[in-house]
Amino acid sequence: MPTIKLTSVDKQYDKSSPVKAVDDLNLEIGDGEFMCLLGPSGCGKTNTLRMIAGLENLSEGAIQVGERLVDSANDGVFVPPEKRGMGLVFQSYALWPHLTIERNTDFGLRLRKVPKAEREERVNHVMKTLGIEQYRDRYPSQLSGGQQQRVALARMLAVNPEVLLLDEPLSNLDARLRLEMRAELKRIHSAFGTTIVCVTHDQWEAMTLATQIAVMNQGTLQQVGTPEDIYDRPANRFVAEFVGSPPINIVEMHDGGDAGLRQALRAHLQGDYAHGAEIASVGMRPENIQIAASPAAVSDSDFQRPMVVTAVLPTGGSWIVEMEDNGSQLFATTNQPPVLNAGDKGVYSLAPGAMHSFDGK
Ligand code: ADP
Ligand code: MG
Repeated sequence: MPTIKLTSVDKQYDKSSPVKAVDDLNLEIGDGEFMCLLGPSGCGKTNTLRMIAGLENLSEGAIQVGERLVDSANDGVFVPPEKRGMGLVFQSYALWPHLTIERNTDFGLRLRKVPKAEREERVNHVMKTLGIEQYRDRYPSQLSGGQQQRVALARMLAVNPEVLLLDEPLSNLDARLRLEMRAELKRIHSAFGTTIVCVTHDQWEAMTLATQIAVMNQGTLQQVGTPEDIYDRPANRFVAEFVGSPPINIVEMHDGGDAGLRQALRAHLQGDYAHGAEIASVGMRPENIQIAASPAAVSDSDFQRPMVVTAVLPTGGSWIVEMEDNGSQLFATTNQPPVLNAGDKGVYSLAPGAMHSFDGK
């Protein structure tokens, strides 16, 4: 199965405006990867997916699938969608209203003139896997949104495509079903080795499903990496703030908050200054912050500061502790009942490597 390679891809709807839906995107999606395109609404994810599919032309750049150039803005090369070997499931899963669920699932196989016996076997298999067997004789209008979405997935999986393109495929499902379908997609990916490109604005979805995540913002690629890379080594503040829940604590280093805290952070990060970097902000993930009643015996490389707990928020099974370090509000999470209550004084600490520093905005 081929690698998909996007080179300097632009999508611009209005040539008179400097705003691009996708701006100079360079991205390689390796054979067998589960690549999630992650970013806020309007950042260009769907456009990117549609360009890979061949449903949208490129304003600039080129797309290769393996050795084959499938699209090039300058050379006039364009391979139509049906010749790209890709299966598509989009947010608005258009099922045929006049066909039963079974016939909808069978649709792609019939188009491809797959022999009847094989069609029946594959349709039965995917309907069973996705739990829609019992609706086989119903029509789409008789199913809920979530059930329809499963039919759309089944229809696409039945044809066994080399590359699956998914646009927010689980967005209409309730929480339980979404979780089940995530596990299902993960099984499908490992069972078939299919290359999957999945668009989502849901960081959870990307973190749990992807082998590689490409984070986008305002049409531009922010970072590509494994979920661990994105989470533990965010390339910039945008990525750091977009992944993680509750969100990462950010301390502005230019102004606001307490000068003492900023100074302590600077001292802790002086290695970064030695390299000449101007640190605009510092990030600390809530789950990396430890709290204690009194200073713990920590190594010199740990960051440790006094604080006052301002609130304890139970979330059911875990706790969020709000605290204040000389006017700077910080949050920590813990899976153990906190040793401190609102109003208590204590200390918080952060292990080496758990502090992130960012330049620019
Ligand atoms: P996402 O999927 O990340 O939410 P999209 O790729 O759908 O984002 O859209 C990216 C940008 O392109 C948005 O600002 C959107 O308004 C713009 N856009 C998308 N489709 C069109 C269109 N047909 N005409 C003009 N602008 C569009
Ligand atoms: Mg979209």
